[in-house]
Amino acid sequence: MKNFTYYRPTSPEQAVGLLEARWGRTELLAGGTDLLDLQKEYIAQPERVVSLASVAQLNNVSISDRAITLGAGMTLAAIANHASVKQHAAALAQAASEIGGPQIRNMGTLGGNLCQRNRCWYFRDEHTNCLLKGGQRCFAIDGENKYHACFAAGHRCVIVNPSTLAPALIALNASAEVQGPNGRRTVPMASFFRAPTGPTEREHNLAANELVLSVTIPIVANTRSASYEVRHKQAYDWPLVQAAVAFQGGRDGAKATGVKIVLGHVAPTPHVAEAGQRSLENHAVTEVTAAAAGIGAGEGTRPLSQNGYKVKLIEVAVKRALLLAAGMKPYWEV
Ligand SMILES: Cc1cc2nc3c(=O)[nH]c(=O)nc-3n(C[C@H](O)[C@H](O)[C@H](O)COP(=O)(O)OP(=O)(O)OC[C@H]3O[C@@H](n4cnc5c(N)ncnc54)[C@H](O)[C@@H]3O)c2cc1C
Repeated sequence: MKNFTYYRPTSPEQAVGLLEARWGRTELLAGGTDLLDLQKEYIAQPERVVSLASVAQLNNVSISDRAITLGAGMTLAAIANHASVKQHAAALAQAASEIGGPQIRNMGTLGGNLCQRNRCWYFRDEHTNCLLKGGQRCFAIDGENKYHACFAAGHRCVIVNPSTLAPALIALNASAEVQGPNGRRTVPMASFFRAPTGPTEREHNLAANELVLSVTIPIVANTRSASYEVRHKQAYDWPLVQAAVAFQGGRDGAKATGVKIVLGHVAPTPHVAEAGQRSLENHAVTEVTAAAAGIGAGEGTRPLSQNGYKVKLIEVAVKRALLLAAGMKPYWEV
């Protein structure tokens, strides 16, 4: 790992004051579960590392009748176990509870999860100069791409966004509070992420001198939500496909309204499955309507040479997430 200077500010303003307007020379450090890996692999080589460990404000949690606000420094384990998150934002609690293993969840934070880098093996290989590292092309498009985007059309880089919290937060209409050099701004989670195409871009839309302070999830009466992941194995594994869903009503014959279906690990940004949403809107959630929404959610896929299997997994993940949100007994667990 390259040597760096370590800073430990105590306020968001101090932290932002240490950042620079361009990516690369200075990095924020939260739990370190991603940044330290990147440094050890020489993918990130910052000269300055700004730790958030002493910025107490990032650990604040506030709950009202209308919203839950979680500080960006909250750990994934704390999110997964928080009673109000479980009650009002089940999809988020479920997503957090399935990330990595206990060590990752105890160190990894909300802000770090949203701002982590992608897991493409070409990007993570020190010796491969892919598009995101200033090279001429994305090696996954014609290479080993079984874990890459199946909504690949129009993308010059076919990573999948790595955050499992992101689809749940978008489904729940959450927004992030961001601190920059000129003050604070609110960013809806639906517009937080971007598809990067070069070394001057990240997987999100924050500037290099901005910091996530918190994320707010509105509490809407009668909302049900869930997140379902299809994975190779139960722990220490990334989803092949994830579906996060939310709606009002939908149970015991009631019509589902405000249906949100957001897919993770299928595109460079979390993917809002509009046709799937339309298919379920104003219908009760049953096995038949949930399956139809799953088929609709796959509309627009353009798989690469090795990941056509993800289209079927989208159908499965969406159907199961909807049935879980509606409180149905998971028939697939025996
Ligand atoms: C085996 C394994 C399995 C995993 N499985 C999953 C999974 O299934 N789903 C999933 O989502 N993740 C998964 N992860 C990744 C893990 O969730 C992330 O590494 C973790 O959430 C990052 O949080 P951190 O606090 O450690 O971030 P750090 O490593 O400290 O930082 C990560 C990035 O975020 C930036 N950052 C941190 N905090 C802020 C902030 N407040 N504002 C702006 N930028 C910030 C940092 O500068 C850095 O670029 C897995 C990791 C491992 C090792």
